Amino acid sequence: MTLLIHDTTVITLRGGGVLTLRRHSLEIDGTRVASLAPAGAFEPRVRAGEFSRIIDGRRRVVIPGLVNTHHHLYQSITRCLPEVQNRTLFGWLSGLYPRWRRLDHRAVRAAAAVSLAELALNGCTTTSDHFYMFPAGSDVRMEAVLEAAELIGMRVHLCRGSMTLGTSAGGLPPDDCVERDADVISDCQRCLDRFHDPRPHARVRIDLAPCSPFNVSAGLFAEMLQLARTHGALLHTHLAETVDEDAFCAQRYGCRPLEVLAERGWLGPNVYLAHCVRLRGDEIATLAASGTAVAHCPTSNMRLASGAAPLRDMLRAGVRVGLAVDGSSSNDCGNLLAEARQALLVARLGQSPGNAATRENARDDASRGVLFPVERAMFLATAGGGAVLNRPELGRLDAGAAADFAVYRTDDVALAGGVVHDPLAALVLGAPPRADQVFVAGREIVRNGRLTSVEEESLAEQLNAAAAALT
Ligand SMILES: [Zn+2]
Repeated sequence: MTLLIHDTTVITLRGGGVLTLRRHSLEIDGTRVASLAPAGAFEPRVRAGEFSRIIDGRRRVVIPGLVNTHHHLYQSITRCLPEVQNRTLFGWLSGLYPRWRRLDHRAVRAAAAVSLAELALNGCTTTSDHFYMFPAGSDVRMEAVLEAAELIGMRVHLCRGSMTLGTSAGGLPPDDCVERDADVISDCQRCLDRFHDPRPHARVRIDLAPCSPFNVSAGLFAEMLQLARTHGALLHTHLAETVDEDAFCAQRYGCRPLEVLAERGWLGPNVYLAHCVRLRGDEIATLAASGTAVAHCPTSNMRLASGAAPLRDMLRAGVRVGLAVDGSSSNDCGNLLAEARQALLVARLGQSPGNAATRENARDDASRGVLFPVERAMFLATAGGGAVLNRPELGRLDAGAAADFAVYRTDDVALAGGVVHDPLAALVLGAPPRADQVFVAGREIVRNGRLTSVEEESLAEQLNAAAAALT
């Protein structure tokens, strides 16, 4: 099927920069972008009836599908939970584990479907999901998340997560929330054999993802490294998120969190790390030199008062960085455009000349009146995320790219005015609008601002029922 988004405004990446192209048309052939060119060039083919579908793009803005690099889709079942609303990470986790250990397959699927729907309705087309909660005696399997992804139509990196260090072994989670190393390894093998597609344009990939240094046995990191190499899979984990994690690693391993990974060979182009809030300058250089990527989660880091990751320093050093909303219990809003806005605002806060903590940084670009650019925020939310997941076909809209894109209406009140001056800035600086249409691999998963596969109200009702059962 050939589809033409005709005579529209397209925001895309080209030559490392973000471009806004007015009066252009985007041609889709099956699952890929066939061409992007000035609208006039398509007129003869439009008149000849060459396209099976034409969308009038004159009052629309088209962007590459947003790429979310870290999530815990199941956590929408415990959004806004009162007893952990005002806790930092370790207290927050300790309060949530007793709820999460009662999860079953159905509840996880219901929560994942809602989280995916929320992402899709706001223009996200690819997400990584870090699922690590396999309570003893539960029927939960990775298929719960996969079934939800297939329902919504999202492209996914499903991270087979794991926790193996329970309280009795010095870890943070209760013993009945953790698995044995051998069980984790065999299920990772099963998921890779059954679901992992290493080919370009894959709809489903399996990444291997021990949860964090404070709830996984050190040996499992090494086991995951070998398995990932064998299958051409990515490695993922949380790292350097809080002061408490620093203290845990110092006490248990006698070193910094990044050293725990480095000693186990966990640095390189096949590794991406969530958070990296508490990196020192030499550690940023280590990430850059090794090609290790970072999933930046500014809202979650503020919600839990973990801190602000050194985004500008990481970018300046050449670290690959993408954006992430993180789990729905530490960022109760799964909207990646909102995250782009948040990333920009936090980066600019760090450039405040009056901020003593950042006076060193403030001497450079901010002192010259140059603030963290809007284009950079959009890059991080699209091609930046694609780069973190080693997916060059994502986050751009030129020939050969995946046909993953979001379409916004210019008559949305959130965009009105700004969209005339600068459509890209209107999307990043304004209130994030709901997408009018979203396509993944050429398939329309959102139309007229609604999911095409299922009624979102029924998803919400199912999750509300499952959440009520956990109270
Ligand atoms: Zn996380």
